[in-house]
Amino acid sequence: MEPGPDDWPDDEPVRRPARWVQVVAVVLVAAVVGGSIWFTVSAVRGASGPTGPVQVAYPPPDRSASKVPLGRPPTLPAGTTGPHVFSQVQPGTGAPVAWDPCRTVGYVVNPTGSPPGGAQLVSEAVARTSAATGLQFVDAGPTDERFSPDRRAYQPGRYGNRWAPVLITWADGSTVPELAGNVLGVGGATSASAPDGQLVFVSGVLALDAADVAATQAQADGTARARAIVQHELGHLVGLGHVGDPRELMFTEESPLQTDDWGSGDRVGLARLGRGRCFPDM
Ligand SMILES: [Zn+2]
Repeated sequence: MEPGPDDWPDDEPVRRPARWVQVVAVVLVAAVVGGSIWFTVSAVRGASGPTGPVQVAYPPPDRSASKVPLGRPPTLPAGTTGPHVFSQVQPGTGAPVAWDPCRTVGYVVNPTGSPPGGAQLVSEAVARTSAATGLQFVDAGPTDERFSPDRRAYQPGRYGNRWAPVLITWADGSTVPELAGNVLGVGGATSASAPDGQLVFVSGVLALDAADVAATQAQADGTARARAIVQHELGHLVGLGHVGDPRELMFTEESPLQTDDWGSGDRVGLARLGRGRCFPDM
């Protein structure tokens, strides 16, 4: 229960707890609707369920992919363990859905409203995600595209005949309702079904709350903590869900038990997500 105004001394401003701030994922889930040309993208937030389907066409297969993975996840020290959850698993096998390691993961950034140092936060968090997965990210430059939970993974008018690059935006609760309140960011990937029925992530989106990130930056260890917020959302982008252990970066909220980098369970999950198979027909 929230304290009412009468519970607070007149000269004491009401403060929200600063360190425990909710982070919510947008997990974009694709389901095949007959044939390989169209699929349905549904945005699911937490356990709230689909917000509505959107039909999206596939681009023609990109034959320029490498025959072998472009990178490999690190070999973790023996005994490295910890909780990790995959945001989506393959039908039948239960293996995690992942990005194609034979292709780069392109991303564009809408810098509008970025807090000071926002570009560096993103590039450092991307580098840490790349290091933990072996996935090779490519900065495809700025964009003026805005966040939508139903964002289309294929936008030929804007990005040509290829999957849309991952969109990273700065926003707030007035422009992105998902960021209202204490939510620091939302992020997730869109999967598509290959001809053999297996799923692969092909695009994705992150929206980071600029005001909340700036407020975090202003606190002790603020830069490292702000970077960790971006890493958490990138963890969703590459296929991790939330865990219940507050020592992991993929815990639902910011926690004083986290370090400013991946926890051991995060690293086990990220390494697994970096060993996905290649999809030459996508
Ligand atoms: Zn989250």
